[in-house]
Amino acid sequence: MKIHEYQAKELFARYGVPVPRGRVAFSVEEAVEAAVQLGSYPVVLKAQIHAGGRGKGGGVKLAHSREEVGKLAGEMIGMTLVTHQTGPEGRVVKKILVEEALPIEKELYLGMLPDRKSGKLVVMASSAGGMDIEEVAAKHPEKIVSVYLDPLLGLQPFHARQLAYGLGLSGDLARDFVSLVTNLYRLFVDYDCSLVEVNPLVVTEGGRLVALDAKVNFDDNGLFRHRDILGYRDPDEEDPLELEASKYNLNYIKMNGTIGNMVNGAGLAMATMDLIKLAGAEPANFLDVGGGASAEMVENGFRIILSDPSVKGVFVNIFGGILRCDVLAQGIVEAAKKVDIRVPVVIRMEGTNVEKGREILEKSGLKFLVAKDLKDAVGKVAEIARQ
Ligand code: ADP
Ligand code: MG
Repeated sequence: MKIHEYQAKELFARYGVPVPRGRVAFSVEEAVEAAVQLGSYPVVLKAQIHAGGRGKGGGVKLAHSREEVGKLAGEMIGMTLVTHQTGPEGRVVKKILVEEALPIEKELYLGMLPDRKSGKLVVMASSAGGMDIEEVAAKHPEKIVSVYLDPLLGLQPFHARQLAYGLGLSGDLARDFVSLVTNLYRLFVDYDCSLVEVNPLVVTEGGRLVALDAKVNFDDNGLFRHRDILGYRDPDEEDPLELEASKYNLNYIKMNGTIGNMVNGAGLAMATMDLIKLAGAEPANFLDVGGGASAEMVENGFRIILSDPSVKGVFVNIFGGILRCDVLAQGIVEAAKKVDIRVPVVIRMEGTNVEKGREILEKSGLKFLVAKDLKDAVGKVAEIARQ
């Protein structure tokens, strides 16, 4: 789960990580009110969307007066903000963060995340903050200090000092950095985060360390332990079909192609997406209905795939084990009765009760393309792709 910068900053503040004073606003009036409360200018207006790169995309603006806050907030709220992270369609801005503008002396980078290669947590820091860290990593890897943490031992003071000295900090700043990174690490672990990133972490002209930007992602598998943050979820920022699928515990990810597919088991789903590509098409989604799916889950999965307007054909590829082929067939037929199927549907199934399943599909009178085997199925998908 992703959250907004203003929400991440709320969490930072609770963990003793310094952030600028500020408030979220959902309207121009609230933005002006927030600026008045801050009490001095300039203030910064920041578009709240679940994507970075807002600075370059026009989503971070400085306002020097009450009038300018009103004017800029009016332009920002409701705009479609395109950044290198939103994709060309951009995101509609529905709220902005109004915060004090801090005089920046230096912009640093700080991030923590699990490192799959080493099986550890990695904390990265760089003196080249504020910009695209991927670019820094590619062009100047020597400017990034990384420390790897054994998750059982966690962040030790020497790790934090190693990072501080790697950043060239000393004295009070080094001391403040050590406590800041320690606090962020506590937040990371307490909330089962998959990413905590501060870019930029700034040194102000007054010599304070402040998190100017804040990004926190949570591991969805740990969310059941953190009911307190579920309110941070913003349905406006999620793909509507993915949101719908999550209600039924379906592992559905929307993709850019035209061949929808429904599969049981993540491995088979990956292989099926490869097959779709081999057939000369692109998958419109990933959907693993799970090993023990019910007819109802199949029905909902099928309906969700069909409600995607970019889907030009569907490939159902099921290996019946715990999920029996007759249950699958029943689910598909039920779904087909409820939605109007405008695209060809190729069905390949094999395994438990396959004969019964085929019979249900035949008797339904619906025009499914039932494949003899996998090869036949891929041929049929290729045929749809050619049309
Ligand atoms: P994004 O990463 O989406 O571009 P940031 O929050 O990092 O958004 O803001 C982009 C840039 O805007 C920062 O690198 C910083 O230079 C400037 N900025 C952001 N917030 C403030 C602030 N409160 N005071 C001064 N400058 C700011
Ligand atoms: Mg940033």
